[in-house]
Amino acid sequence: MSKLEIKDLHIAIGEKKIVKGLSLTLNSGEVHAIMGPNGTGKSTLAKAIAGHPDYTITSGDVLLDGQSILAMEPDERARAGIFLAFQYPSEIPGVSIANFLRAAVQARMADGEELDATGYYKRLYGKMDSLKIDRKFTSRSVNEGFSGGEKKRCEILQMAMLEPKFALMDETDSGLDIDALRIVAEGVNAMRGENFGALMITHYQRLLDYIVPDQVHVMYDGRIVKSGDKSLALELEAKGYDWVKTELATA
Ligand code: ADP
Ligand code: MG
Repeated sequence: MSKLEIKDLHIAIGEKKIVKGLSLTLNSGEVHAIMGPNGTGKSTLAKAIAGHPDYTITSGDVLLDGQSILAMEPDERARAGIFLAFQYPSEIPGVSIANFLRAAVQARMADGEELDATGYYKRLYGKMDSLKIDRKFTSRSVNEGFSGGEKKRCEILQMAMLEPKFALMDETDSGLDIDALRIVAEGVNAMRGENFGALMITHYQRLLDYIVPDQVHVMYDGRIVKSGDKSLALELEAKGYDWVKTELATA
């Protein structure tokens, strides 16, 4: 059992305050969804937790199993078990998926420990089979010329291989057709369990038809303004975000 605690977090980009006091606790075994209109700071939150250097945490804390991760470099955070699936994954021409994943898995191992190649490929192919990803995929360069759906498959495969404690999934569903959406959902659902928790950032309720969240949070102007169960996502889908804004204005 692990716990990721976000405590009264404030994040700025340069002088601009983006996240303005956000608290949330995610336990392993749980999936939380964060929904909210564009520009509210959802990606900022995910990137800052992962340790992106452009985002300054001006106050508050992020604890993984009681230990602050804020002084850690992004790679240390990854090794500690935080995984960020990007909204816009980068292309890495000339680096095959197989080699990229191998390097990523090796980097997570202790110093001096060597990756066993046979075991690695066995595990990789096992994960690919369960995610219904063609084996030819591994010889292609990371994300180069990939369709939106293929990029997301690649992210999910990375996640499956790295077995993080917590995954932050930033609009992993955007631009996906239903088949690709199912791959993402199956990947997350397959990992769901006592050693894994996920924060799904999404704009649409659609993904949540496949991944049923334990909690749904509405983010607006850098804060969580409403939390509830999956029915909140349905309510948002039906009424849009203006309803939340109106409720806030009259509160
Ligand atoms: P969301 O993911 O909810 O759409 P973002 O976190 O991407 O929102 O953006 C929140 C705000 O921060 C927006 O006003 C956006 O323009 C700004 N922002 C995000 N990233 C940067 C950046 N690298 N430099 C400057 N401003 C940024
Ligand atoms: Mg975003």
